[in-house]
Amino acid sequence: MNEPSPHDQLHLIQTRLERACQLAKRDITSVRLVGASKAQSAEKIGRFVKAGLCDLGENYLQEALEKRQTLRERTIRWHFIGHIQSNKTRLVAENFSWVHGVDRLKIAERLARQNPNPQPINLLLQVNLDEEESKHGAPYLATPDLADAIAQLDGVNLRGLMVIPRPRKTTPEQHACFARAFELRERINQTYNLELDQLSMGMSNDLEAAIAEGSSMVRVGTALFGERTSARTNQPN
Ligand SMILES: *Cc1c(COP(=O)(O)O)cnc(C)c1O
Repeated sequence: MNEPSPHDQLHLIQTRLERACQLAKRDITSVRLVGASKAQSAEKIGRFVKAGLCDLGENYLQEALEKRQTLRERTIRWHFIGHIQSNKTRLVAENFSWVHGVDRLKIAERLARQNPNPQPINLLLQVNLDEEESKHGAPYLATPDLADAIAQLDGVNLRGLMVIPRPRKTTPEQHACFARAFELRERINQTYNLELDQLSMGMSNDLEAAIAEGSSMVRVGTALFGERTSARTNQPN
């Protein structure tokens, strides 16, 4: 079986992004494509980077560090999109310029303190929009105060919110939950006089709805790279 070429796959996603931006009357440059590359081999990801993919999102620290050993291209921006344990913050701070899964003040404080670089690490505060027991993310109601506290820290730059809603059956339902994330960010900005400019939301199956509702970063895995090869890392967390 022939694998589709990375160039063609990137073109396919780029076309979806362009179409979604057109419908939403948004500029294509306002949406960043982050390749969600968990459980994809470094060799394969490398071919996508050569074809023009600039942003890679990894969920598991050990796996990500192994890939960084192989993929040394300086053009790659590394995003940590998984759940962060507090004993892993140093390695996350040393290796990632964007961290999407921050959901506690303690984690943000550790990343701020352990950041070895002069540039602040860009943080996204993960919100548990659906208040699902089993999911990570700050509770919806606690998010504004938490955002305000994180925004005060030196060494990190709180840029916005990240959400992983539970899958919705219909398009209007997808839109409704992404719209809640947008409204929450607007409310936080107004209440605390912040300038959060990012929303990390939208994956392979719902990126159009996310873009319509203001996403600035879509994290796309299977629609870009194909099916994941390892069962262990198949679930978004
Ligand atoms: C795996 C993953 C994605 C990508 O999911 P697809 O449905 O394969 O596009 C996005 N975000 C997070 C946090 C993930 O873990």
